Amino acid sequence: MSTAHILGFPRIGADRELKFALERYWRDGMKAQDEAALRDTGRALRASHWRTQQDGGLTYVTVGDFAWYDHVLTTLAHVGGLPQRFGFDAAQLTLAQYFALARGNPAQPAMEMTKWFDTNYHYLVPEYSPATQFGPGVEWLFDEVSEAQAAGHQPKVALVGPLSLLWLGKARDGLSDTLSLLERLLPAYQRLLARLREQGVEWVQIDEPIFALDLPEAWRAAAPAAYAALAPHAPKLLFTTCFDDVSEHAAWLKALPVAGLHLDLVRAPAQLEIFLADYPADKVLSCGVVDGRNVWRNDLDATLARLEAARAQLGERLWVGSSCSLLHAPVDLNHEPRLDAELRSWLAFAVQKVREVALLRDALTQGRDVAAAEFDAARAAAAARRTSSRIHNPLVKRQVEALTEAQAQRSSGYAQRAQVQRERFALPLLPTTTIGSFPQTAEIRAARAAYKQGGLSHLDYLEAMRGHIRQAIDKQLSYGLDVLVHGEAERNDMVEYFGELLWGYAITANGWVQSYGSRCVKPPLIYGDVYLPEPMTVGWATYAQSLTDKPVKGMLTGPVTMLQWSFVRDDQPRSQTALQIALALRQETQALEAAHIGMIQIDEPALREGLPLKARERAAYLRWAVQAFRVAASGVKDETQIHTHMCYSEFGDILPSIAALDADVISIETTRSNMELLDAFETFEYPNEIGPGVYDIHSPRVPTADEMAALIGLALERIPAQRLWVNPDCGLKTRDWQQVDPALVAMVEAAKKARAALALRAARTHAVA
Ligand code: GLN
Ligand code: ZN
Repeated sequence: MSTAHILGFPRIGADRELKFALERYWRDGMKAQDEAALRDTGRALRASHWRTQQDGGLTYVTVGDFAWYDHVLTTLAHVGGLPQRFGFDAAQLTLAQYFALARGNPAQPAMEMTKWFDTNYHYLVPEYSPATQFGPGVEWLFDEVSEAQAAGHQPKVALVGPLSLLWLGKARDGLSDTLSLLERLLPAYQRLLARLREQGVEWVQIDEPIFALDLPEAWRAAAPAAYAALAPHAPKLLFTTCFDDVSEHAAWLKALPVAGLHLDLVRAPAQLEIFLADYPADKVLSCGVVDGRNVWRNDLDATLARLEAARAQLGERLWVGSSCSLLHAPVDLNHEPRLDAELRSWLAFAVQKVREVALLRDALTQGRDVAAAEFDAARAAAAARRTSSRIHNPLVKRQVEALTEAQAQRSSGYAQRAQVQRERFALPLLPTTTIGSFPQTAEIRAARAAYKQGGLSHLDYLEAMRGHIRQAIDKQLSYGLDVLVHGEAERNDMVEYFGELLWGYAITANGWVQSYGSRCVKPPLIYGDVYLPEPMTVGWATYAQSLTDKPVKGMLTGPVTMLQWSFVRDDQPRSQTALQIALALRQETQALEAAHIGMIQIDEPALREGLPLKARERAAYLRWAVQAFRVAASGVKDETQIHTHMCYSEFGDILPSIAALDADVISIETTRSNMELLDAFETFEYPNEIGPGVYDIHSPRVPTADEMAALIGLALERIPAQRLWVNPDCGLKTRDWQQVDPALVAMVEAAKKARAALALRAARTHAVA
């Protein structure tokens, strides 16, 4: 029999058991006596995930994919190299200390967090310094191996590899480069791998996803010797790549002293042929053909056809696997009571994907007939997806095809629009505004939940939301803000809200995916052509506008963010789906304009994170992403002011694309970096209006007016006063009113101080002249 395996299973549990157990443990103060309950939950989850893999027909169950918070931190706990500022000893690390690293403690801020490649998972960033030492760590992995063995499973251990562990960390305190720590790190891996071999582990899947990135040559050059040092005392090593093409490395990867390689053939199918040419006779080749990071059912026939040539060449040395860890997929389709049968027939979550991997292996080794019913069902589902009228909307396709260059272009340039808008809105210099959301209080959440569950009538719900809008408008008027928002009380989430209202989208009940630690997200599914049946925000915006003469911004989520934070259909290019969403949003902006909403904000916080891993693909991405935004934003008249908003990442390297969005005004997160982002504006002159955030909304701390005035002063050094806005870094939904009230009062005061300083300077210049 050939081998069937997955690279990892989601660890949170089908009912997010891990999340709730973690949060209970943290809330109760991480007491030693509560640790047992948490550990029980972890053990039960692992046992159930292994059982799923075994019952599903996989050859090995994957051990080592579990982590209490994050797999990169857990790897550091295994091999040492924890950030030294905490003063913890990896070999003696307690769970409470592990969580202190992840979440901070009174003495030390948490480790930094950043995105795991191009997924929406966030890992904890290792901190390396010249003094970093590796060595023995916790025994957790060995315990988990014993657990799996005791339950009668054949474990294959998954482990983040040494090169990736170093590359993913940050060099501090004068360390020139993290690769310089490799020699120190390898003995720790040798020890760990030797222990696993003693335990009877046959295979270790050593994950080196960094080879899908554009790496400096030194990293590639270091790999052969590193693996030559690891292999002799280790179990058999499966060197695992994923997330993109690694064919540029094919020659040396084939020569690497490991027992096998794994390729992501979902993201990069063409690389299979390159690897098959002269594939060494002493290695297995694991083919990642079941998508680990999306929700679509595998077209088993088509996949099998692709694997047959490889099978003919490799025989039993061909392994069938998931493309990457299933960490990025929801857990179980059987936990979706609300999706209808047809839609479900197009989907596969982690539990279903396990089965697909095993079925493919079975069909490959024994012929399709061993699983005729399953193959028939998959074939029927694939055929239905190709033709279903729920998916294919000729009207939408026609509109996308008919799109013209002119539709991605405002009728006039910024300068002319700005003039018209200045006359229309007559705003003061340095206008003040917020990013959209206000505190999502328990009351708001309760009203939304009651409405969803049928406990609140439609009219009562509308009245409750109107009440929150009234409150938000009153408060903004009392702070003295210049441009107002309705507050987004009706939105549980900035993507799901629109997903519920657009055709072509489905919302799951339990399709949770870990984002970081105990935090999970539930991305909507885009299964079909996206179509706007009726306006989605006009009622809320016009109600808010009816309460005041000051302008109220309409508030939308942009096409790229709608895409980036959803599971996206895989039967057409992402760019095509983005354009469909853009067209729907274009109609929405036009409906808002027709309803006399004069300013419309289209948020694109995820623009930067959609950048492809490989530099050579970035220009094409930015081209269609910018085009999609412009299609959404350009259907309005000159006098309508388009805003956009960005946060979460560094934007310095994509400023030309941000400028190309041609929004009249952009608000952007800058406070924490002390306006560092604006340094980029010294070399690149941003042409339109910009509001660099002056209030760090991620912290409960209330900034003073003087602090914010100082930040405005810094911004004024780079941006002319006529084009500068004053606003917080992001929406305020995670804050409470006790913080928001004084902070916004102070922000308005800061803007006034800055205006007064400008007026004084102007008067002086005038006097001198
Ligand atoms: N308008 C959204 C809000 O204020 C923007 C959120 C975001 O950028 N992530 O909540
Ligand atoms: Zn934001």
